[in-house]
Amino acid sequence: MKSRRSFIKQSTMLAGVSFLVAGRGRWSPALGFGVDAASIERFRSKLSGRLILPSDADYDATRAVVSQNPETDKRPAIIARCKSEQDVLRSIDFAHENELEVAVRSGNHSFLGWGTCDRGIVIDLSPMKSVTVDPASKTALVSTGSNAGEILASTARFGLAPVLGECPTVGAGLALGGGLGWLSGLHGATCDNLLAARLITADAKILDVDDRRNPDLFWATRGGGGNFGVATQFQYRLHPVGGVLAGSFIYPVKLARDMFRAFRDLMSIAPDELQAECQLRTDRGGQFCVEFVYSGDLARGENLLNQFRKIHPPDHDSLKRRAYADLYTMGDWEESWKFEFLKATYVERVSDELIDVIVDRFAQRPLGCETAFNFDHYMHGQVCRVPENATAFSLRKPDAVQLGFWTQWKIPTDASRCMPWVNETFRLLQPYAGGRIYANYMASSGPQAAKSVFGPNYERLVAIKTKYDPTNLFHLNPNIVPQSEHE
Ligand SMILES: Cc1cc2nc3c(=O)[nH]c(=O)nc-3n(C[C@H](O)[C@H](O)[C@H](O)COP(=O)(O)OP(=O)(O)OC[C@H]3O[C@@H](n4cnc5c(N)ncnc54)[C@H](O)[C@@H]3O)c2cc1C
Repeated sequence: MKSRRSFIKQSTMLAGVSFLVAGRGRWSPALGFGVDAASIERFRSKLSGRLILPSDADYDATRAVVSQNPETDKRPAIIARCKSEQDVLRSIDFAHENELEVAVRSGNHSFLGWGTCDRGIVIDLSPMKSVTVDPASKTALVSTGSNAGEILASTARFGLAPVLGECPTVGAGLALGGGLGWLSGLHGATCDNLLAARLITADAKILDVDDRRNPDLFWATRGGGGNFGVATQFQYRLHPVGGVLAGSFIYPVKLARDMFRAFRDLMSIAPDELQAECQLRTDRGGQFCVEFVYSGDLARGENLLNQFRKIHPPDHDSLKRRAYADLYTMGDWEESWKFEFLKATYVERVSDELIDVIVDRFAQRPLGCETAFNFDHYMHGQVCRVPENATAFSLRKPDAVQLGFWTQWKIPTDASRCMPWVNETFRLLQPYAGGRIYANYMASSGPQAAKSVFGPNYERLVAIKTKYDPTNLFHLNPNIVPQSEHE
């Protein structure tokens, strides 16, 4: 998914407020949710972070998620902004004592708004930020409130980078769901580069997991979503990075069909060093954009992309040598929208017919909504060489892509015009999808969706879920239903 979010988090929150407040009134949590005020005060006194309640001025801004729309517009009873593992432990205890639904969030980017819930408790890890780099072992120890931009900023000082996603504000959910980014062709998924983690389980135990300690849980943590506990710490393997060749070519919309095909043909023979995304979008009057990052011998990269340049000379060309650390500032997106509804589908082969459906569907977009189609994370290289049962993340088919599409709008009432287009597009694209789903781009939830996410690893994950979270406390995620709930 695009790096267009570097700037939007705050604006989304603010934009979300008017939409949300307009929809519903205020109420007292003590009256509205059956959690008594004395119990809340006891909880507050033990927390080093802040408790945010519906009566607080920043409640609406804090409860909002990044993709704000009527389906993600939820009102939790309590938001616990955790500053320490002790805060997380106390939040879990409080949830048990008061029988509250639990939502866990780090970067808050879940399409389906899993970082919030109605009438429950949000365990918000975002205040837990720290990154400690060990340049000698090329590793980083990261608190899971740190987002991708913050982690790269710390590691880049040592000429090192983790394998993270392409958006700086995405958080820990990325590694838990797999994690695909600019370096995945060379070094695999984010979860392939996770060396250890620390989890707080549903029974409020702190567990260190790696190849030796709780190896079953370590396997499941790498791709199994937030099913098994609250992750508070990750240790990442880092890779030396220096200069890269990066930037975008922009074309008029009328070339979209040709350029989608050219993009597919380029990526089907791309070296591991090259990753690229393309997008057909309405902003700036409509354009087709291809964004490249080449992380290898730069002269070879220039030669390769010069061939692509010749297919159709782009209207705008920003490809140049840059520092890897600058990639998160590469996007130049217009900030003209307030609400958003997005879905994605994992496509195993990009056919000409699929491209035709996309281009035709783009032409049928609802007027007045910003609209885009993206091909993200073309699967090739190292990420596809890892066996599908090596970690819980099994989507490793060469030549597959994530096809994302969304609408954005400014006025709350436009939701009813913009959202149905996304749902209908999703339906029309299903004949071209292979039946699998990427955890990080889930467009629907439920047991069938989870089976599509985990494929051959599903049964093994059910056993691990049953062992560590038998009552399914952590279920706002690509949810694996424990055995007890099957019976
Ligand atoms: C703009 C945008 C760009 C994106 N770019 C990429 C990309 O380049 N590559 C890619 O692979 N994906 C990408 N994604 C998808 C992204 O990886 C997923 O949405 C991911 O789940 C977000 O993680 P988060 O921590 O930001 O979100 P959250 O909404 O906070 O969490 C997402 C899920 O993870 C769980 N979770 C989060 N933190 C924890 C924790 N510490 N412990 C236990 N469970 C936790 C939550 O409960 C929820 O189920 C993008 C999404 C967006 C919206």
